[in-house]
Amino acid sequence: MVCGLGFVLQAEFCRYTYKSACDTNHKPQTPHNKMIIVTKQQQIEMNRHAESEYPNECCGAVLGRFENDKKTVQQILPISNMREPEAKHNRFLIRPEEFLHCEKTARKSGLDVIGFYHSHPDHPAEPSQYDLEHALPVYSYIIIAVAKGHAEEMTSWELQNDRTQFNRESM
Ligand SMILES: [Zn+2]
Repeated sequence: MVCGLGFVLQAEFCRYTYKSACDTNHKPQTPHNKMIIVTKQQQIEMNRHAESEYPNECCGAVLGRFENDKKTVQQILPISNMREPEAKHNRFLIRPEEFLHCEKTARKSGLDVIGFYHSHPDHPAEPSQYDLEHALPVYSYIIIAVAKGHAEEMTSWELQNDRTQFNRESM
């Protein structure tokens, strides 16, 4: 299946994004965050979004704070349901302008973009090869498995620094 939260980013933008993430003081110096704190209400919001877009994938950003050994989610920012109908075939891709919108929204509240979420319709909540190839370090990647229209398992992953694999985060 074609799935994943990809970044259609030109090299320039990609460098900007990653540099800005590393330059911010309250971002972690060590890349391995093993925990992400997500409230029940935030999980419900992501599940509802995933179910509403079934059988297509949904995607969105997760805003919050980086701390020493964990990330804390403060706000869910749906992306795919803001798009034009004709753009829905690649809804799982976060475009550069959408990424910037997320960054600006986060900054207004004194938050950071700490990750992204997307759904796997009728597929397990595990990262695909496509997800691995399009992920960036530092961020959390939350995946929601939606079976026959009902959100089931939710998992969170962070890319290992050498980009060879994802490590699962506890929620
Ligand atoms: Zn995926």
